[in-house]
Amino acid sequence: QKFVYDFTEGNKDLKDLLGGKGANLAEMTNLGLPVPPGFTITTEACKVYLDSGEEPPALRDEVSAHLDALERKMGKRLGQADDPLLVSVRSGAKFSMPGMMDTVLNIGLSDASVAGLAAQAGDERFAWDSYRRLIQMFGKTVLGVDGDLFEEALEEAKRARGAATDVDLDADDLKALVETFKGIVSRETGRDFPQDPREQMDLAIRAVFDSWNGDRARLYRRQERIPHDLGTAVNVCSMVFGNLGPDSGTGVAFTRDPASGQQGVYGDYLANAQGEDVVAGIRNTVPLAELETIDKASYDQLMEIMETLENHYRDLCDIEFTIERGKLWMLQTRVGKRTAAAAFRIATQLVDQGLIDEAEALRRVNGAQLAQLMFPRFDENRIGDSGVRRIGWGIAASPGAAVGKAVFDSYTAIKWSRSGEKVILVRRETNPDDLDGMIAAEGILTSRGGKTSHAAVVARGMGKTCVCGAEELEVDTKKRCLSAPGGVVIEEGDVISIDGSTGKVYLGEVPVVPSPVVEYFEGRMHAGADDADELVKAVHRIMAYADRVRRLRVRANADNAEDAARARRFGAQGIGLCRTEHMFLGERRELVERLILADTDTEREQALAALMPLQKGDFVELFEAMDGLPVTVRLLDPPLHEFLPDITELSVRVALAEARKEPHENELRLLQAVHRLHEQNPMLGLRGVRLGLVVPGLFTMQVRAIAEAAADRIDAKGDPRAEIMIPLVGTVQELEIVREEAERVIAEVERARGVDLELILGTMIELPRAALTAGQIAECADFFSFGTNDLTQTVWGFSRDDVEASFFTAYLEKGIFGVSPFETIDKDGVGSLVRSAVAAGRATRPDLKLGVCGEHGGDPESVHFFHSAGLDYVSCSPFRIPVARLEAGRAAA
Ligand code: PEP
Ligand code: MG
Repeated sequence: QKFVYDFTEGNKDLKDLLGGKGANLAEMTNLGLPVPPGFTITTEACKVYLDSGEEPPALRDEVSAHLDALERKMGKRLGQADDPLLVSVRSGAKFSMPGMMDTVLNIGLSDASVAGLAAQAGDERFAWDSYRRLIQMFGKTVLGVDGDLFEEALEEAKRARGAATDVDLDADDLKALVETFKGIVSRETGRDFPQDPREQMDLAIRAVFDSWNGDRARLYRRQERIPHDLGTAVNVCSMVFGNLGPDSGTGVAFTRDPASGQQGVYGDYLANAQGEDVVAGIRNTVPLAELETIDKASYDQLMEIMETLENHYRDLCDIEFTIERGKLWMLQTRVGKRTAAAAFRIATQLVDQGLIDEAEALRRVNGAQLAQLMFPRFDENRIGDSGVRRIGWGIAASPGAAVGKAVFDSYTAIKWSRSGEKVILVRRETNPDDLDGMIAAEGILTSRGGKTSHAAVVARGMGKTCVCGAEELEVDTKKRCLSAPGGVVIEEGDVISIDGSTGKVYLGEVPVVPSPVVEYFEGRMHAGADDADELVKAVHRIMAYADRVRRLRVRANADNAEDAARARRFGAQGIGLCRTEHMFLGERRELVERLILADTDTEREQALAALMPLQKGDFVELFEAMDGLPVTVRLLDPPLHEFLPDITELSVRVALAEARKEPHENELRLLQAVHRLHEQNPMLGLRGVRLGLVVPGLFTMQVRAIAEAAADRIDAKGDPRAEIMIPLVGTVQELEIVREEAERVIAEVERARGVDLELILGTMIELPRAALTAGQIAECADFFSFGTNDLTQTVWGFSRDDVEASFFTAYLEKGIFGVSPFETIDKDGVGSLVRSAVAAGRATRPDLKLGVCGEHGGDPESVHFFHSAGLDYVSCSPFRIPVARLEAGRAAA
């Protein structure tokens, strides 16, 4: 097994083995682009280390051989006293992880070689600056010293000098600072800063391995659903220097705007600076376009390379580069992160450029991004009269409209959000320690840093609203306040609004408007119009591709005409679940109460007769809204006590009435009924088909209402396509009894009304026994609809109403699952029951219609599963329909 690859040996498809950074460095090397030579240690080596606590035995010799080769190529040895080869050691996992240890630069510098570097560079200041950076980064990331100690010492040195930035410190200042830094390392770690260059390198490599399991990295992976067992690769790369004077510098660039998708020159450049300075937002950068006047040759070469990369990767790339005394070097590239809006726009732009086809365009976007685009935005027109005022204008780093109370540290952000407050995390700039706070906040506001600052990159990754670099705002984290021009001071707890699409910051709560994408789905905005929003056009095109290729149909969970109509506008091809219990709420609850309390057949019949026309009216409206499309009506499902008053409340009422000697006969009867119907475990009790079997006339009334409504619609020249669905069936016998009675009623209505109703009858599969005996159940069902909410509840034995609030956080933290099985289908358990029920059902009845109507029907990952399991449709809430359509398309593309 080979653990080390030279950059010339890898390629971009080896991300599993070489990590994203290593694979792309290799790809660029092989494209002939100027990449400083180096090598990559594989994720396999990392995995061996993480499993056993030791590097694989062969690793040391392999690293030595590759280091030898690198030294020969560069004509100097690592840390050589008179002319040292210096290297960077960088982590690089398969997926980019900003929460992880990133980079140690300048490895190879020591008390002995710093002079050699000074002589070679002809710049003593530069050499000492490089050395202090090494001790600082190494101390913090490899030896675990608190980074603030170095920062404070650096600030102190600047203060002593009256220097505005670190560039103003001279060689002697830096020499002294190196001594201070070495002192910090010795004091904090009990050992001296290592002078042996190979030891520096080996420790850094090991630290990268260890960083895979750091708290921040684990948290980030959980958030992003990245598996914990991938490991990270380590890149060892010869150093080039952007801090060798004004003809040197470093920058980051995007081949298009990651916020809008627009083509152009996007990026930041910082002269006379090294690596992390740009990303950290420590000094302020200039727009990349200014590089043209600073160093035209490098600028032109960079533009050419960016074009090469975009055509090669056929996608937006982001790039890190360094210019060392007028020579351009590429330090990193990757397919760049982008906002949801940019993802849609770029995908269609690339289709138009002929770089990708429509199927690929579909793969380039996803349902989570579409969902993000459906969030509301600030109402610019109403800002004037809403009493809010703009206090700043920063960089639109990650779109969305966020309103919340200003907080100035992550701890408060987490604490307040736990108690239900919406907060905006306000920082001068963020660093990986702020990750928890960023997750807890509605949005993030910083006063420093550009589009590529930590805050911007991480917020975009999380889909969180972010405005960064709002420079006229002064953030004082100690005093917990924010000062804006004109003497405005915002204290902790004051409400602010930030617009991640424009970069504007407001004091007060800005009114919000719906997103243009929702306006488009609602039919209030047309993609064909000349002035249509570019984003709407892109969404329209991508949805059209998705609809063209998808096999799964998409229906809605809706139980009133309004939701049904919206669902239809959003592209629903029918209703997959109408929960009739929702029709028994409000004023009708009383009628249900009468039904439950009925002592005699007559009383019961009267109650049912009163409910019947109301039910029928509901169905007429629903069938009308979905005319020509299937509407699955589920007969009553929940336990009856849900329609009765709370047992404790009622007991108190009865007791009070008794004490006051007031008449309370009705209350008492009600209380007796509540006691009679009380169950310890109602979700496993008298509900679903069991109700139909023991409450005489209930299902009959519902079936009659459906049949009569359908007959009315036929009389009105409509096209009703009702499907009657029986919930919570566990055995075919239950279904047989209900079916026989339903067929009798339907036939009766057909005879009486002189119509052919073409009603079909099916069942939910939401109990393990139903799934296990699906072959028998299919004898008696025209369709199955998987009720994956109850199926998940019963397969896992997890109470769906309780577990998320009680122990799921602990389960997620322990990695027992990466996401709640109520959110994303558990493929191995619940999913395998679904698959076998599909097979058994179809074996009995090849034309069996199959769908799913649990919450999973609108979850992107689950939609892919249902596609592969061979279902005919998914059904989800109206707002998730576009997402389900898109994901169904992606699953088929
Ligand atoms: C289900 O159990 O998945 C389902 C759709 O039914 P309900 O959520 O109404 O129990
Ligand atoms: Mg259910």
